[in-house]
Amino acid sequence: MNGRKCDICAGERFSPFETIQYRGMDINYLICDVCGLVFQHPSPSYQEIVFRVNAKRWTHDERRRDYWIDYIRAERMKKMLAQNVPPPRSILDVGCRYGHLMSTLGPGAKTTRVGLEENANLRNIAQKYAVGNQVYPNLGYIKGGFFDLITITHNLELLKKPSVTLYTLRRFTAPDGKLVVETPNFLVHPSLRRDSLYAFTAETLTNMLAVTGWEVIWLKRHGHPDHTKLDLYLTALCRPAERIARRLVLPPGEIKKKRRFGQLKRLFAMTIYGGGTDVDTTGGYMV
Ligand SMILES: [Zn+2]
Repeated sequence: MNGRKCDICAGERFSPFETIQYRGMDINYLICDVCGLVFQHPSPSYQEIVFRVNAKRWTHDERRRDYWIDYIRAERMKKMLAQNVPPPRSILDVGCRYGHLMSTLGPGAKTTRVGLEENANLRNIAQKYAVGNQVYPNLGYIKGGFFDLITITHNLELLKKPSVTLYTLRRFTAPDGKLVVETPNFLVHPSLRRDSLYAFTAETLTNMLAVTGWEVIWLKRHGHPDHTKLDLYLTALCRPAERIARRLVLPPGEIKKKRRFGQLKRLFAMTIYGGGTDVDTTGGYMV
C-alpha cells in the first residue's frame, strides 16, 4: 500500500479496519494482516503533525480540565511505580506536556529532569513547573546521557513512527534503566480520532516493545484516572532486552468483534457508573 510497512512486523498486507469522520473528511484505519497492529492511513506528514499540535486552540475550561487530568495521572503513576522503580537520579519524559510527570517522579534539585514537548505553550509551562526542568521540542536536541527512567505516556499512539522512537530511546537508557509506556487500550477506549495515528492492544504494545529492544517486566490494564471498572489504558514497565525479539505474540482473533464488545461495555458502564473516558491530547513528542 504505497510502500507502507507495518511498524511492528514490516508486513505489507493490511485490511480496512474502521473509518471515522473528522470535519466531513474520512480518516481510515487499517489493520496489519500478520500482527494485528491498527494504524491510520495515510499518515499526515511530520510538519503537518507539528502544525496541528501548535495550532490547537483551547477554551479556559478545556485547558483547566486537561491540566488537572495530567496532574492526576502523574500522581497515580507515582503510586503505580512505587514498588518497582527506585527514585530516579535522571528522568526523560517523552511528550512531557505540562511537566507534571517528570516533576512528580523525580522531584528535588538533585534529579536531572528532561522533557520533550512539541507544543510551544506547553513547553513553556513545563519549563517553569519546577526549577531545573529542561524542556526541548524533540530528541534531536539531546546530545546524549543515560537516564534511569524514561517515560512515554499518552504519546506513543500520536507518533508517526513509534518503533523508531522506542528503538532510539535504548541509546539514552542507563544499563539498569527502565522505560514506562502508557497508551489507551483501544479494545475499550474510543481511541480512533484524528491525532491518534496508532491504536494498541496489550498484544500489539508488547510486540512493538519486543521488536524495538525492550523486555516487558509487567503490563497492567486499568482505567485510572477516568474509570475504576474499565480497562481503558495499558501501562507497561520495561527494561532493555538482551536482544531484539524475533517472535511476536499472536494477535487475538476477531479484533473487530472484541472492540465492538469493549465499546458497548464502556457505554454501558458509563451509563451505570458515570465517568468520562475520552481525554484529548494537546501536545506530545511527534517524530
Ligand atoms: Zn504487522
